[in-house]
Amino acid sequence: YAAKAGGDRQRRYDPGLDDEADAEARLGAELRAALDTGQFRLVYQPIVSLPDARIVAVEALIRWHHPGRGLVNPADFIPVAERNGLIVELGAWILTTACAQAVTWQRTHGAAAPARVSVNVSARQLAEPGFADVVAHTLAGTGLPAHHLIVEVTETAVFGGGQSVQTVKDLHQLGVRIALDDFGTGHSSLGLLHTVPVDVLKVDKSFVDTITMAGRHAVIATALIQVADGLGLSAVAEGVETAEQAAELCRLGYRLAQGYHFGRPVAEPDFHGVRTAVAG
Ligand code: C2E
Ligand code: MG
Ligand code: MG
Ligand code: MG
Repeated sequence: YAAKAGGDRQRRYDPGLDDEADAEARLGAELRAALDTGQFRLVYQPIVSLPDARIVAVEALIRWHHPGRGLVNPADFIPVAERNGLIVELGAWILTTACAQAVTWQRTHGAAAPARVSVNVSARQLAEPGFADVVAHTLAGTGLPAHHLIVEVTETAVFGGGQSVQTVKDLHQLGVRIALDDFGTGHSSLGLLHTVPVDVLKVDKSFVDTITMAGRHAVIATALIQVADGLGLSAVAEGVETAEQAAELCRLGYRLAQGYHFGRPVAEPDFHGVRTAVAG
């Protein structure tokens, strides 16, 4: 029977899906346990001003120290935490930890500590009713002034439905700064910039990668700094890995950058150390 052959194919296909669902459920349970037993850490990457490479902010990035598998990257577990909903609780932990750390650095390093901490917020968190209240309570609880917090969201997350657009407006109303992460790679349009209050465009690494390539042009990086300047927004160039890229960004008019060239994400960035300036 043709139908039977189709049925066989079906049966051979299904176990694969079951395995995938099993793996996802297992990972989800492990994430739950990881949160309960303190296996997550935050690391912080400098966001610097060009051309003097002074640290003006840090971005908090999560790391999972798995007892058996070692270090697991966020790309391998954040999507799972999003799908099973754990990101709401995990995200609250991230927010509290980052805000508390920023307050601690202000106390211990004074003026040398970066004024601002930038925290990634996922689509699911943003869509959740009451997320702006969670942020307000976290700020009150940790003592971090609202204007010292930057919330990083993607264009896709802002249009993810639920309360997302209203939440961005509420956060901005609180005094929290809004950054659009991976800007230029989402599925939205520049019209987004008129829909929600935005303070910072984080220009995606893919547009930084091409600016110094032979035969390539800096067309998009140039266009995006013009959009930011024209609308009175800050622009941060992401994923800057070389001095050449930093110099070129500077020449294009970028005043903020982030990337391995200036510092990798670490638990305790060196706020006093000598850094690589563009000129020199
Ligand atoms: P993102 O928010 O765009 O963060 C920037 C990513 O680029 C980080 O990867 C960072 O380590 C990496 N990076 C920074 N500079 C360079 C560079 O010069 N070269 C290269 N090749 N990479 C660079 P990471 O930490 O693995 O995070 C990946 C993504 O996972 C983040 O992208 C963000 O979307 C998500 N993520 C990380 N931490 C969190 C978190 O606490 N909450 C949420 N919701 N998402 C997070
Ligand atoms: Mg980010
Ligand atoms: Mg980014
Ligand atoms: Mg990115």
